[in-house]
Amino acid sequence: MEHQIAENLAVVRRRIADAARVVGRDPSEVRLLLAVKTQPVAAIRAALDAGADLLGHNRAQELVATGPALAEAGVPPHEMHFIGHLQSNKVNQVLRWATCVQTVDTLRLAERLDAAAARRGAAEGDGAPLDVMVQVNTSGEATKAGVEPDRATELAIAVAALPHLRLRGFMTIGANSPDVDVVRDSYETLAAVRARVLAAGAPGTGEATELSMGMSGDLELAVAAGATMVRVGTAVFGARPPA
Ligand SMILES: *Cc1c(COP(=O)(O)O)cnc(C)c1O
Repeated sequence: MEHQIAENLAVVRRRIADAARVVGRDPSEVRLLLAVKTQPVAAIRAALDAGADLLGHNRAQELVATGPALAEAGVPPHEMHFIGHLQSNKVNQVLRWATCVQTVDTLRLAERLDAAAARRGAAEGDGAPLDVMVQVNTSGEATKAGVEPDRATELAIAVAALPHLRLRGFMTIGANSPDVDVVRDSYETLAAVRARVLAAGAPGTGEATELSMGMSGDLELAVAAGATMVRVGTAVFGARPPA
């Protein structure tokens, strides 16, 4: 298993690098986040041992369950982001193990995170802000979370103004379509949201540069549209068991 994961990781890195070069981008502009949902700690460790340094969990329960094992001595240092729907009663648990919440899609959730980050800062005495991204529903699919693109600028500016949050960018789940033009459209929509927010120049938005988009099946399209972070699961770990 370890060998397979390392090999898959190398293939994904090559795909990212090739996709970047095709459009004249420097491959180092694109980080790889491994989506580790349903993966046992052994598989996650194998990926870290093979050089992965950025993980994403999308279920609070799994994040909390794997947190202690991944914090043990000997586990390569890594960053953990939260990439799933966040229920308000899970905010404190998630903050314990994640340094960035990529899925802020309402001001209400942002305010909850801001309050929790303030409490954490006070308790730990460091006062460091919590990194967040605004999740945008760029496909219009009713089943997907995220703020509508038309309302994303307003939300991003409001989030950036919260004192204990640091807006790092934008995240989307691409359209679920066999039509590459439709998928590309959703990624270009996220890039346009970022451009609008940066152009508005509101306080706290200057570091909102990340575009978290693209998955195992379509990362090339996302990189072409400007992704700075692609989130990959199955291409590294293999197919997940049906939920
Ligand atoms: C699972 C997941 C991914 C990765 O999807 P794959 O198709 O397995 O690469 C990316 N983003 C989010 C939010 C996910 O939940």
